[in-house]
Amino acid sequence: MPVLRTPRLDLRPFTPADVPAMAKVYGDPEVMRHVATGEPWSAARTHAILEAYARRHRRDGISVLAVVERATGDLLGDAGLEPSPATDGALEVGWTLRRDAWGRGVATEAGAACVRHALTVPGAQAVEALVVPTNTASVRVALKLGLRPAGHRHAHGREHRVLRLTRGQERPMDVVVAGAHGQIAKLLHPRLVARGDRVRGLIRNPDQAAALEALGVEPVVCDLEHADVDELRAAVRGADAFVFAAGAGPGSGAERKATMDRDGAVRTIRACEDEGVARYVIVSSIGADDPPQGDEVFAVYLRAKAEADEALKASKLDWTVVRPGPLTDDEPTGKVRAARHVGRESVPRADVADVLAAVLAEPETAGEVFELGSGDTPIDEAVATLARAGS
Ligand code: NAP
Repeated sequence: MPVLRTPRLDLRPFTPADVPAMAKVYGDPEVMRHVATGEPWSAARTHAILEAYARRHRRDGISVLAVVERATGDLLGDAGLEPSPATDGALEVGWTLRRDAWGRGVATEAGAACVRHALTVPGAQAVEALVVPTNTASVRVALKLGLRPAGHRHAHGREHRVLRLTRGQERPMDVVVAGAHGQIAKLLHPRLVARGDRVRGLIRNPDQAAALEALGVEPVVCDLEHADVDELRAAVRGADAFVFAAGAGPGSGAERKATMDRDGAVRTIRACEDEGVARYVIVSSIGADDPPQGDEVFAVYLRAKAEADEALKASKLDWTVVRPGPLTDDEPTGKVRAARHVGRESVPRADVADVLAAVLAEPETAGEVFELGSGDTPIDEAVATLARAGS
């Protein structure tokens, strides 16, 4: 029985049958360079340590666990929790994965489950990761898990960086969504609110405020075409991330494609730069990579989208450009096709909302432009692949 489940992984206690596979992991000098003293472990040591992990799990209910890929049954390594050498009630989170599991988001997925679990353990005041400073990949994982730098500590005979998350100080993301009463945005809000994010929604029509409040969103009246710079800056001030999901809409003419889809976006890009809002995710459109010439409204729309995308890409922000195909109101499938080019596939707005939520949670998608259509890849996996493309 798994103790913890994630979209792709089961984390379960070790058994004696795991010794041969784990002896290969712990015997690999490249893997162990970053673990404990930096030396590989013998099969005998692996045996003794797995026994100790299993015993501790039976006794305390927490320990280092086997990380098993559910689809294949492969044992990828370990991840789990141990009492921290610090004496203040912290639990130490850690992961040791075989080399072919690196770079696939496995540490982040397993580590996130462990951190969530740690914060439910009675008496656990904090969760810490001890990482040797040269292990930059694990430092990045710890930061993604919400752990923050908290000095250095000598352990296992060498210096480690300490990254720490204290209970009660979990800092949710503060997200501003433009076009907050739009169809995609209204599907995005519950996804962000459910994971604890603070969501501020920009609307131009105050009558929409109550609907946002009912979704747990703080309404901010701000007309993106008419607000002055100070108003725009105030609207984004203090946010961690901005999502542009606004648009002049299907009934609008060429003029509003320029004032809203292009200039509305560009003005919020400038406001985010001015206010130090580092992360910006724009809902663009398929076709914006090579917009047609001509005066037809759809061509003007695609050129407006393309120009907004270019302004964002030229900014100093951590940007991601999401280019969905034609949107539908179909039920979410949880699966998409996301790549530089996917063809003119339609996609449910609910799946776009899930992709936006996943992109916000994955800082490594910064610097990526991708088209989005219906497909067969689970959304977390599709976003993890995009994140790896940039690393
Ligand atoms: P939507 O329902 O039309 O929502 C757009 C929102 O933008 C509306 O709530 C609208 O508010 C708001 N807005 C318009 N002008 C504004 C202004 N001056 N200030 C502040 N807010 C303003 O759009 P959606 O279906 O969720 O789509 C969102 C995005 O996807 C758009 O950027 C669109 O271009 C893009 N997209 C669409 C398709 C498609 O097939 N439709 C395909 C690819 C990409 P009001 O209620 O006040 O008008």
